[in-house]
Amino acid sequence: MTQQPADDAIATLLKEERRFEPPVSFAEQAHVSLREEYDKLYRESLDAPEAFWKREAQELVFRKPWRTTLAWQPPHAQWFVGAELNVTESCLDRHLRGPRKNKAALVWESEPGETRTWTYAQLHRETVRLTRALAKLGVQKGDRVAIYMGMVPEAVVAMLATARLGAVHTVVFGGFAPDALRDRIHDCQAKVLITQDGAYRRGTVVPLKDMVDRALAQHEARSVENVVVFRRIGPDGCRIAMQPGRDHEWDALMSEADRLPGGGAVAVDAEHPLFILYTSGSTGRPKGVLHTSAGYLVGVHVTSKYVFDLRDEDVYWCTADIGWVTGHSYIVYGPLSNGATCLLYEGAPNFPDWGRFWRVVEKHGVTILYTAPTAIRAFMRQGSDWPQKSDLSSLRLLGTVGEPINPEAWVWYHHFVGGDRCPIVDTWWQTETGSIMLTTLPGAAFAKPGATGLPFFGVEVAVVDDQGADVAPGSGGKLVVRRPWPAMLRTVWGDDARYREQYWSTIPGAYFTGDGARRDADGYHWVVGRIDDVLNVAGHRLGTAEIESALVSHPAVAEAAAVGRADELKGQALVVFVTIKGNHHPSAELAETLAQHVGEQLGKFARPDQIRFAEALPKTRSGKIMRRLLKDVAAGRETSGDLSTLEDFGVIASLRADE
Ligand code: ATP
Ligand code: MG
Repeated sequence: MTQQPADDAIATLLKEERRFEPPVSFAEQAHVSLREEYDKLYRESLDAPEAFWKREAQELVFRKPWRTTLAWQPPHAQWFVGAELNVTESCLDRHLRGPRKNKAALVWESEPGETRTWTYAQLHRETVRLTRALAKLGVQKGDRVAIYMGMVPEAVVAMLATARLGAVHTVVFGGFAPDALRDRIHDCQAKVLITQDGAYRRGTVVPLKDMVDRALAQHEARSVENVVVFRRIGPDGCRIAMQPGRDHEWDALMSEADRLPGGGAVAVDAEHPLFILYTSGSTGRPKGVLHTSAGYLVGVHVTSKYVFDLRDEDVYWCTADIGWVTGHSYIVYGPLSNGATCLLYEGAPNFPDWGRFWRVVEKHGVTILYTAPTAIRAFMRQGSDWPQKSDLSSLRLLGTVGEPINPEAWVWYHHFVGGDRCPIVDTWWQTETGSIMLTTLPGAAFAKPGATGLPFFGVEVAVVDDQGADVAPGSGGKLVVRRPWPAMLRTVWGDDARYREQYWSTIPGAYFTGDGARRDADGYHWVVGRIDDVLNVAGHRLGTAEIESALVSHPAVAEAAAVGRADELKGQALVVFVTIKGNHHPSAELAETLAQHVGEQLGKFARPDQIRFAEALPKTRSGKIMRRLLKDVAAGRETSGDLSTLEDFGVIASLRADE
């Protein structure tokens, strides 16, 4: 992409952007408190990676040290070659030897409102018990274990026990239907499945075990020999059928395990697989991303420590589901390896009302909150009264991940949730990257609403043209990573050709993220959307994020999605789907006002050709807008491609009905 008039319009926008410096009181106590310090560490991480990673990984437990920091045979990396470890020893055992032994590891808030707290000693004990139980069921090093559960502490135990045996977990988000579960089981040939009877969601019970039965009834899922069932609800609220020989009660297995030996951590090679996780499917058929042991652990440990500035006193709450990579890296492995206290919330953010999140923050004294733009926009739509009803003064740091955050939503989050006192870390990363790649360290650098910021240690990103050459600062291009990093994916499970093709063939010598971005004069990165979604309107290249942000900056708009439709004259016509706030009504006048508003914000060329009001936008189950479906709707085509990750089929139907 070259510099174009569109960039001028955006430059005007950028000029108005504000900088948010870290509050002095925050910076003073932060792990990294000066920009110079960040710069120095960043340089060291690139120039002397051996020394850098050796020092940063010091706290972690290795049975055998590594010989070589990195062996790189593009596109395959091996990190910490020769090391042996079991990641659970860093997450559990190491804390038992000091004052964290009786510190809360997990604080669980159920949807109905009860609380359970597990100390590190208790979490360790439960993990050891399940490790024994799984061993008894024949799970061995390298076997795949599928986990299909809600947000309960037992799900964390299931992940850790699997890892403790050197087995490989694949967590399937509990909102997926039986067929999606079946496909994932089939793809990785899982031998054991861990589930629960049912899960609470918005006051009703999601019958997880029934869905398991439906998935396993299909012959593609026949690899599963044993099913472990945790009774979250109990027979009064959730009746299930247990298949003798195949299905086992969690409690019975755990009691039996008390009489068994074993439960120790199995040491594995640094590159031994830790988990397979299927991407959320915003852009197509989900990919089974493979992460391995040492590099992943080091990556999530170090990012958790610096990006969330974790301290022993913190109560850290990441609102993601453990079925997504954010749950893996920043609920389980990263925070636990740092000995943090993690809050786990079982239910929906708006149950029984839109005040729930904020009451949870107040009740547990949450200090760090990590959530997604989709949630923030949903809260914004409900108005600022809700957060104001609770005392949020315990918060000291906020984070976001998952999509570009519109500056409007950023500022709302900063003011109404963070009380203008909390830095916000906007973290860009992917299932594939395993750990955070771009953000501002909260005590060391100012934030700009809408920009993800600077590269994390060891991360060398670039914004390039189709030939792989750097574009000028301020111009748009493809976001790539130019050298391997510890937590990177190693391959696509069972499909190395897809790994090469998808990530390493677009730009010579670099990992292609699939995202479009721009780096500004401060070196801050702005992710403008998926490269496949970038619009070409009358010769101007526009990222979806900039159009959507312009719309969301209008007071009537809650959320927006921009897509292109083939147009003979302009190449592409710009169609936007808009949901509006409660106190506004769809009308031709409003559509005209919004089109004009975008024209004023970005330039006349960016004026949408069509504005369509919608009750809701189609999203993945992880809450991301699925623009590929909206493209079909805009073009009046049948919906094509993989639909298994779409949250609500009704949304697409109603969008079509509105035509
Ligand atoms: P699929 O790859 O199956 O289409 P997905 O890309 O949505 O699914 P994830 O790995 O969960 O699956 O999401 C990573 C993507 O989310 C990034 O490539 C980027 O597009 C977007 N993203 C994540 N964090 C941010 C952020 N802070 N700012 C902008 N975009 C982000
Ligand atoms: Mg992706």
